[in-house]
Amino acid sequence: MSLTSPPRGPMTAPYDELAAQLRGPLITPDHPEYDQARRVYNAMIDRHPSAVARVHDAIDVRACVLFAREYGLELAIRGGGHNAAGLGTWDGALVIDLSTLRSTTVSPDEHTVRVDAGCTWADVDHATVGFGMATPSGFLGSTGVAGLTLGGGIGYLTRRFGLTVDNLLSADVILPDGSFVTADATTHPDLFWALRGGGGNFGVVTSFTFRCHPIGEQGTVIAGPVLYDIADTAEVMRWYRELLPSLPEELSGWIGLLTIPPAPPFPEELWGRKACGIVWCYTGPHDRAEELLAQVREFGSPLVVGLQAMPFNVLQTAFDALYPAGLQWYWRADFVKEISDEAIEVHREYGAMLPTGHSTMHMYPIDGAAARVAQEETAFAYRDGGWAGVIVGVDPDPANAELISTWAKEYWTALHPTSAGGAYVNFLMDEGEDRVRASYRENYPRLEEVKRRYDPDNLFRVNHNIDPEWDAS
Ligand SMILES: Cc1cc2nc3c(=O)[nH]c(=O)nc-3n(C[C@H](O)[C@H](O)[C@H](O)COP(=O)(O)OP(=O)(O)OC[C@H]3O[C@@H](n4cnc5c(N)ncnc54)[C@H](O)[C@@H]3O)c2cc1C
Repeated sequence: MSLTSPPRGPMTAPYDELAAQLRGPLITPDHPEYDQARRVYNAMIDRHPSAVARVHDAIDVRACVLFAREYGLELAIRGGGHNAAGLGTWDGALVIDLSTLRSTTVSPDEHTVRVDAGCTWADVDHATVGFGMATPSGFLGSTGVAGLTLGGGIGYLTRRFGLTVDNLLSADVILPDGSFVTADATTHPDLFWALRGGGGNFGVVTSFTFRCHPIGEQGTVIAGPVLYDIADTAEVMRWYRELLPSLPEELSGWIGLLTIPPAPPFPEELWGRKACGIVWCYTGPHDRAEELLAQVREFGSPLVVGLQAMPFNVLQTAFDALYPAGLQWYWRADFVKEISDEAIEVHREYGAMLPTGHSTMHMYPIDGAAARVAQEETAFAYRDGGWAGVIVGVDPDPANAELISTWAKEYWTALHPTSAGGAYVNFLMDEGEDRVRASYRENYPRLEEVKRRYDPDNLFRVNHNIDPEWDAS
């Protein structure tokens, strides 16, 4: 299904019957909290679901799934609500909102954490970093665990410990027929394979269990940005593309183009200046840090060297305040195998035209431990990706929606010929089925098979959809 397809099934259903079955509130359009409940992180998304169920437990989830099935309703699932394409809500749909399910259970001895599906990464890091460990996640605290994990999960720990899905041990799932299963490497292994990158196509995950790893010194890492003038972009990118593969996996860094935020700790004289930057994160023993970090501190003529010791969860939430919920977002993405000279020219051109202070471009490394996992081992298909790139137009003012979208689309169009062809599904907008297939590459047919087995009627279709009937169409 294209994301722009009209909803199928009735727009109304006996919601009072559903409300009577739920422990959590069911918020319909006449409810005073409806406008707040229908909102997602990206304020460019303005959809009107027919009801939002703030579920209380797995039984509430099951009731919603069975109700949507019985009445032929569109069904949207919301974890952290961060999906830029707005897949956590849908016009006319019943939304299962998991955001009140926020509990975590850590086992410091077994190095695991069990996480409810409404948690954000800030919830998880808070629970684990105090025990000196973390599971690979992303680069922000406010992103939802559920959507990020089900798409793959790319973050500071990817080089050293793999994607988030490479650290997923099991998931509890409510299937379209209302049954509850735990999928892991030996039970429902096909479902477990598909959940590790295939998104919300197969069921509603109610909790995840992840492997954790000791990091830094008792969870304290050495991290922060090193920023250069935007005019240095080509020099910095050329240096970075050679340096990164030579570094030990304890040290990772994503590169980006940005505007220096007008806020401390950045020096006031640099506020609003366009920059090329790398945010480094070193998770190894601190007695080796200075020797390794000297080369990244000393290269070129940095405007800012913000490297310092900090608990990993402080790093993870460092950019949350700069990107609060309610901004306009439009992004475009691709994997890139190499940062070619041709690509660098495009970055130079469009980086100089960053349209607003929040707009940015990031490239996240997919190498090290993530690249050692075979492409067919999980549904996530770009193990040889090199970097996951994303061009992000952001602004608080809806009047700038066109400006930021146009910049992102034009930048992407210029850069796409230098890419690996597909994008990280969690960075896709509504770009059509071909883009979804390009992102799953050779794994797409197997995803279709699993979809046919677990969700043949495509109940779970408000997502980057694996269409079970595609072959026949
Ligand atoms: C500011 C920002 C920063 C980001 N940073 C990163 C990053 O560092 N690394 C990275 O990998 N990605 C990152 N992303 C992308 C992010 O992974 C996706 O946007 C992801 O969809 C967010 O998950 P969510 O639970 O918050 O989303 P939601 O909007 O709640 O859900 C997105 C989709 O996921 C599915 N889904 C959600 N919950 C469930 C569930 N419990 N069971 C089944 N399906 C479910 C549904 O199909 C849903 O439509 C970022 C996004 C933003 C906006």
